[in-house]
Amino acid sequence: MSGESAGRARGIVIVGAGQAGAQAVASLRSGGYEGPITMIGDETYAPYQRPPLSKKFLAGEISFDRLYIKPVEFYAQANVELVFDTRAAAINRADKEVLTGNGRIFPYSKLLIATGSRVREINVPGFDLDGIHYLRSIADVQGIQSKFREGARLVVVGGGYIGLEVAAVAKKHGLHVTVLETADRVMARVVDPIVSHFYESVHRAEGVIIETGVTVSGFEGNGRVEKVDCGDGRLYDADFVVVGIGIIPNTELAVDSGLHVENGIVVDEFARTSDPDIYAAGDCTNHPNGVYGHRLRLESVHNAIEQGKSAAAAMTGGALEYNQVPWFWSDQYDLKLQIAGLSSGYTQAVVRGDPEAGRSFAVFYLKDGMLIAVDAINRAPEFMMSRLLIAQKAKLDPARLRDESIAMKQIVQ
Ligand SMILES: Cc1cc2nc3c(=O)[nH]c(=O)nc-3n(C[C@H](O)[C@H](O)[C@H](O)COP(=O)(O)OP(=O)(O)OC[C@H]3O[C@@H](n4cnc5c(N)ncnc54)[C@H](O)[C@@H]3O)c2cc1C
Repeated sequence: MSGESAGRARGIVIVGAGQAGAQAVASLRSGGYEGPITMIGDETYAPYQRPPLSKKFLAGEISFDRLYIKPVEFYAQANVELVFDTRAAAINRADKEVLTGNGRIFPYSKLLIATGSRVREINVPGFDLDGIHYLRSIADVQGIQSKFREGARLVVVGGGYIGLEVAAVAKKHGLHVTVLETADRVMARVVDPIVSHFYESVHRAEGVIIETGVTVSGFEGNGRVEKVDCGDGRLYDADFVVVGIGIIPNTELAVDSGLHVENGIVVDEFARTSDPDIYAAGDCTNHPNGVYGHRLRLESVHNAIEQGKSAAAAMTGGALEYNQVPWFWSDQYDLKLQIAGLSSGYTQAVVRGDPEAGRSFAVFYLKDGMLIAVDAINRAPEFMMSRLLIAQKAKLDPARLRDESIAMKQIVQ
C-alpha cells in the first residue's frame, strides 16, 4: 500500500455514481453491511435518473432535484464517502486499489464497476461544429434547452427512443423538427414495423418531418452547424442538431486491468467478473439471462437496479441471482410505450387493439407459440401480464390474445 491509501480502511469502492452504483449503495446498507463505502463519480452530481433527461426534464416539467435517485442527504446519513468530479483512471488488481486521474488512491476489499455507457459519436465531416449536441447528462440537457426557441430548426440524427423523445418535446415547444433515420423505419432495432409505422404517423401528425433510409454524410456551417448533408442531394437547414445513434459501454477500466470483456464486462448472474474481488453492474456489463438462455448487454434502468442489487448481495457474501425479463419504456406525446422482453427471433406478431383507430394497442411477439416480448402502447395490463407470462415461457393462443373481450388475466387457458 502506498501514499494516500496507507491511511484508508479497506471497504467497498464503487466506480460510477449512476443508477447501478446508487442501487448498490442502498442495497448494501439495507442489507446490513456496515463497513466503509466509497463512491467515485466523474460527474458533479449525486446519482441521478437519466430517463427524464429526454422527457419531463428536457420539457422543463420537473425540477433538477426530482432527478436524484436518492436525496443528497441519504449518502451522508448512510455514511458513504462521495467523491465527485473524479475519474477512476486505473485498477491495480495486485494491490487492490483504484487510482484516479487526479492522483488519488482508493484501496478496496471489493470493487464494483458501474461506469455505464457513453454516447456513440458521429464521425463525419463537420462533426465538431458548434450546435451539434448529444444527450446523456444534465449538462447535455442544459445545452439543448438553451436552443429551444419557438421556430428554431432542429435536426435529430437517429430515430431511436432518445431521438424521438427529443423530437416530441421539441415539437411541443414550437420548434421545426426533422428526424433522419438510416434504417427504413424508426425504432427498427427494437419494435415490429406495426409499432414503427404507428409512431411515424403520430410524429408526422404532430408536424415532425421523419425521413427514413437516409444517412448523414456531413455537417456544414461557418463555425456553427447550418446544414445537415445526407450525401444524396438532400440538405436540411438546422439551427442545431441532436445526435442519438446509440451508446458504447464504458469498459476501458476493465479492459486495461485485464478483466474478461466482450461486448461489455463479462459477469455471471451474481454480477461477478473474472476477478473474485471485482463486480460489475448496469449498462457496462454483458450478463447471462436465464429467461432467454443467452448473454445480453442491456441499456435500461431495470437492468441497472437489479444488477446493482445482485452485486451488493454478492460483495457481502450473499447470492441474489439476476434472472429477469428485461423491460423498458419510452414517453412520446401522450403515448407510454412499455416494452417487456426481447423480440428478436419472433415468428409471429399478434396485435391486440387497433393502431389505426386509436392510441392504445399492444403487439405480442411469439416464437413458436411462446410469448417472448410485448410492446404495449398505453396498455398497462398487457405489459404487466406479459412480464409474468414471458418469465413463465407461456405458450399462448393468438386468437385469444387478439380478442379484447378476454381480459389479460384470463388470457391463459
Ligand atoms: C436520455 C436518456 C434517456 C433514457 N431513457 C430510459 C428509459 O426511458 N427507460 C430506461 O429503462 N432506461 C433509459 N435510459 C437508460 C438508463 O438511463 C441507463 O440504462 C442507466 O442509467 C444505466 O445505469 P448505469 O448505472 O449502468 O449507468 P449510469 O447511470 O450512466 O452511471 C454511470 C456513471 O459512471 C460514470 N463514470 C463512467 N466512467 C467513470 C470513471 N472511469 N470514473 C468515474 N465515473 C465514471 C458516468 O459518468 C456515470 O455518471 C435512458 C438514458 C438516457 C441517456
